[in-house]
Amino acid sequence: MSDCIFCKIIAGEIPAKKIYEDGEMLAFHDITPQAPVHFLLIPKKHITSLLDMEAEDTALAGRLLHKAQELAKELGCEENGARFVINAKRHGGQTVDHLHIHILGGRILGWPPG
Ligand code: AMP
Ligand code: ZN
Repeated sequence: MSDCIFCKIIAGEIPAKKIYEDGEMLAFHDITPQAPVHFLLIPKKHITSLLDMEAEDTALAGRLLHKAQELAKELGCEENGARFVINAKRHGGQTVDHLHIHILGGRILGWPPG
């Protein structure tokens, strides 16, 4: 996806503060952090949103969730916890159309969302 900023980060065309990378996923700090810990975990495969995920992506989704909690623990969220968020499309507040998991921690987060 040539106009997708997260695909450009994957391709190295836009810089990012990377936390983790392997053949199928990438984690990097959010450019506008909303908590002391706020990073994004994305698949390298361009999936537009969770609502566009297909059955063939289920194993990848499982590995993403597992890596999300592993990285959250590495960044200090094991004891006090964290929030794992996936915004999808307009009503969900998605602004970048490439599937991503937000991982937020380091403070108590409010609920319900606005
Ligand atoms: P969402 O609103 O769920 O689509 O979240 C998109 C997130 O991507 C926001 O929290 C932005 O701050 C973040 N973001 C946008 N551009 C960049 C970038 N170049 N590097 C890191 N994070 C970004
Ligand atoms: Zn993309």
